Amino acid sequence: MKTRDSTSVSQIPAQVFKQVVDQADLAVSITDAAANILYVNPAFTRITGYAPGQAVGKNESMLSHKVTPAAVYQALWSKLAARQSWTGRLVNRRAGGDKYLAELLISPVTDEQGKVIHFLGLHRDVTELHRLESEVRNQKAMIESVVDAAPVAMALLDEKHTVVVDNQEYKKLMADLAMAEPATVILDAVRADIGHEMGAAVPGGHAFLNREVRVDRAGRAPRWFSCSGIWVRRDDGGADSFFAEQNSVYLLLLAMEITELRAQQEKSRMAALQAMLAEEGRINVLRETLAAAAFQLEGPVNVMKTVLATMERRGNGLPAGAALADAVKAAQEAVDTLRGAIPDQSEELPTTVNLNEIVHDVLNLTTGRMLAVGVSVGWQPQPVLAAINGYPNRLRSMVKALIDNAIEAMNGKGWRERELSIVSRSIADGIEIVIEDSGAGVPAAVRLRVFEPFFTTKRNGGHLGTGLTSALQVAQDHGGAIEIDPREGGGCRVRVFLPLKRS
Ligand code: FAD
Repeated sequence: MKTRDSTSVSQIPAQVFKQVVDQADLAVSITDAAANILYVNPAFTRITGYAPGQAVGKNESMLSHKVTPAAVYQALWSKLAARQSWTGRLVNRRAGGDKYLAELLISPVTDEQGKVIHFLGLHRDVTELHRLESEVRNQKAMIESVVDAAPVAMALLDEKHTVVVDNQEYKKLMADLAMAEPATVILDAVRADIGHEMGAAVPGGHAFLNREVRVDRAGRAPRWFSCSGIWVRRDDGGADSFFAEQNSVYLLLLAMEITELRAQQEKSRMAALQAMLAEEGRINVLRETLAAAAFQLEGPVNVMKTVLATMERRGNGLPAGAALADAVKAAQEAVDTLRGAIPDQSEELPTTVNLNEIVHDVLNLTTGRMLAVGVSVGWQPQPVLAAINGYPNRLRSMVKALIDNAIEAMNGKGWRERELSIVSRSIADGIEIVIEDSGAGVPAAVRLRVFEPFFTTKRNGGHLGTGLTSALQVAQDHGGAIEIDPREGGGCRVRVFLPLKRS
């Protein structure tokens, strides 16, 4: 019994080969070794317009439209001379004179000695295919130039968040920010801003829309971007996806720089903030003054109360006792009136707060003062900081009190070292802000007492000693803390910790 493999070609009648070639839907020509045509099939006649009688005996060069560069023919013939097949595209002319684009495969046919005796030519008309390919290429080039000219940075990210396609504006951003991949930093900022996962990865859907995020860089002004993320379907193009679609969902990140617009808004916001802080400062001074007056008055009143109680215990009903009782009553009323006159803390609603923004605001507000006293500032924000839930105005007052203290500590007569360093960073469960100054530092003996109300190390008057107390109160109201450490090489190091979630 014969196996399938052993079925010999010789068993197929020669007529079958002729029928196959005759009926093939591909132009077939057989030539001698000099490309003179010996045979053409009906598809050849259909494509070229040459009947067998017109083609046989002619050279294949009759099909040349003479616009194909000579180098192409040279490459074709050098392949054939090396007894290899050649495949490529040529501009051909039909019998009627019109041109078409032919895609050819020419193979040498050798005899037993390996000598080329014939060439087999197969070709098809690919004019329409070429037109469609050109259209796709043109559209791609057009889309690329539009995408490149767009004043928006665009980056397409795969599932591992690797940028697979980007545009000119994105490349410019990479150079400007001196970052390997701005998309990663921007996406981190967006995540920190929205505070939850992005929208579901549905092609055409938004991962996020018009989120305004900032990217902070050491020693430079922050840059602002309005960002949107759109999920995009991408066919993976592998053979497996030919019958069964195998798509991946990519993220198209669009980031439009709005730093200038923000700067203008920032200017007006700063003016309003300055006015608000000045007003709050005035109210705070009033609060502190009244609280100090009540505190100081309470001392003698308490002494008077003790004396009165002693007199009453001894049954001393002298008129002096009644007078003292009246005096105690009047003094207590005065203390109560003073306490009642202390203005309330302004009402503020909690919201998400970016501490980099808070520090940046305070630095903006104190620039003039720092320049005036010659303090140089080193501000090193973590580029993207998670937001906390808090009271922005109170936090601003807290940071301002600490920075004001630092400036003051370096503003002594003849004091040369005037360097302020501020660092923000995320640490376990919270944010840390470290403010270091090169002033005289806080002596170890009073390092804890400086947080006590009305304690001050300043002797020049005008200081009530409540700045650090209020600052600590703000930190504690946010579930955080403030510590003061000595600083290597002198000066003071204030470490503020604020938790991301309050327990
Ligand atoms: P030619 O004078 O033919 O020559 C152009 C260049 O090719 C020259 O550099 C020359 O040195 C070199 N050359 C030509 N003939 C040979 C040879 N026998 N050996 C080595 N080098 C040689 N051309 C088309 O334009 N359209 C076709 O559809 C087409 N089909 C072909 C099918 C087959 C089976 C073969 C073998 C060739 C086919 N050719 C086709 C190539 C064709 O034979 C011509 O070489 C080509 O058309 C250029 O013609 P020409 O008159 O402009 O220049």
